[in-house]
Amino acid sequence: MLGTMLHGPGDVRFEARPEPEILEPTDAIIQLSASCICGSDLWPYRGLNAVGEPMAMGHEYCGVVLEVGSAVKTVKPGQFVVGSFCLSDNTCPHCQYGFQSSCEQREFMSGAQAALARVPLADGTLVATAEMPPDDLIPSLLATSDVLGTGWYAADAARVRPGATVVVVGDGAVGLMGVLAAKQMGAERIIAMSRHKTRQALALEYGATDIISERGEAGVARIKELTRGVGADSVLECVGTGESMQQAISATRPGGMIGYVGVPHGVQLEGQSLFFSQTGMLGGPAPVRRFLPHLMDLVLQRKINPGKVFDLELPLADVAEGYRAMDERRAIKVLLRP
Ligand SMILES: [Zn+2]
Repeated sequence: MLGTMLHGPGDVRFEARPEPEILEPTDAIIQLSASCICGSDLWPYRGLNAVGEPMAMGHEYCGVVLEVGSAVKTVKPGQFVVGSFCLSDNTCPHCQYGFQSSCEQREFMSGAQAALARVPLADGTLVATAEMPPDDLIPSLLATSDVLGTGWYAADAARVRPGATVVVVGDGAVGLMGVLAAKQMGAERIIAMSRHKTRQALALEYGATDIISERGEAGVARIKELTRGVGADSVLECVGTGESMQQAISATRPGGMIGYVGVPHGVQLEGQSLFFSQTGMLGGPAPVRRFLPHLMDLVLQRKINPGKVFDLELPLADVAEGYRAMDERRAIKVLLRP
């Protein structure tokens, strides 16, 4: 089998790999219908996270179950499934509270930029559809696995309510999904911060009511202007830098909530400014499994079209070009077809 390995910064290879096998009775093997490249894959690709051993890449996935271990009860061969990038048992206390991304048995998915993949903790991780979905829904179903689930969690954690004023910091794929989620949750005003034309257009299509292209203090000043000096009820932080986090805190009204899902890199928060901001914060890796059944349902009923966030589709064999396109910001998000 051929699969995607990252050997070092900028060095992605589609190369021979051992075929995945059932290692634990709780495993499943799936045949990927599609996979994709995540913004977080770019951290090691850019050398911002160390790469020691070559890494098997890919954690967003959907496909058909080929084989299950002896303990797997909820999915069976032949079913179409989507799973979260966080593998969870869905039974431990954290899972029961809806925080499957902190599962006591948590593992992170890897190796999904390939034709076949092993999914550990299959019962707690995978959600099957009632029937085989039509091919044109595959990109949107794939999006629920991480990018939509993460944007949704940002909106949920920021407690977006009907009628709310929402700010979305970050116009990457997750930020755009945050706009979609805020719209679905009934936000009245959705202010997207974006300076790229194609991303602004998609944000408007997904439900943004205002676009702010300024950043930093100028960006915060614009938000204050648009909210009569008050700030937003809910802010979705979808970047993970010191600047974007500060922007999120400054944009939130006292008593408002920040949902932060950009993996922090070099973020330092100052205690007193946090204290006097009187904002709530909830973030971390998204518990996508909590939202999966609902999000898959919205896709299957064609109520949302998150798959539009994929603006470049490549055969899996061209995965290295996909990484280049995302790294150089020629593509928002790359879909890979085996
Ligand atoms: Zn658990």
